[in-house]
Amino acid sequence: MDDRQFRSAMGKFASGVTVIATEVEGDIHGMTANAFMSVSLDPKLVIISIGEKAKILNKIKESKIFTVNILAADQQELSMIFAGQLKEHNEVVFDRLDKKPVLPGAIVQIACEVSTEHVEGDHTLFIGKVTDIHLEEAEPLIFYSSKYRSLEEEKVVTI
Ligand code: FAD
Repeated sequence: MDDRQFRSAMGKFASGVTVIATEVEGDIHGMTANAFMSVSLDPKLVIISIGEKAKILNKIKESKIFTVNILAADQQELSMIFAGQLKEHNEVVFDRLDKKPVLPGAIVQIACEVSTEHVEGDHTLFIGKVTDIHLEEAEPLIFYSSKYRSLEEEKVVTI
């Protein structure tokens, strides 16, 4: 199995898009990520997975805090900015949630303190203890098969 096949297969799992943000000595750093999942309800824990080459990795290790900002359908540009795909852009302004940097307009902002970290292969998994949450009513940005999408219509499915 080659890397491309693995990437293509994993890309078939449709996801939302988040921007992970942290702050070290007043400098805020963000990174686009879709490797995000809820872990536990009691206590409230989430997990993110950060590649070993990402600059944000050492910043989260140092600050011991991060936020997860689930992007709205109209925030594709922010996703591209924080994935390093848009070099020319206006300054990105952050809000605060539990004193941690969050993106205005995100449909969910989650403030976390690092609970534990695990190095697995070429990524580090951070388990975050959720300290605060803010929700907005809006449609999410979707990522599937390397492309941005949006939800077309609501279909009620009973599970
Ligand atoms: P940089 O490359 O330094 O930062 C990324 C960009 O964000 C830069 O252009 C920088 O200018 C900009 N930026 C950072 N902070 C600010 C700020 N305060 N104001 C304005 N701009 C700022 N990688 C993973 O490790 N895990 C994932 O789960 C993951 N999921 C992804 C999902 C999607 C949909 C995409 C498109 C990419 C994903 N990536 C993921 C890849 C990751 O987003 C890129 O590799 C990213 O460029 C690595 O960021 P970095 O920390 O090295 O920081």
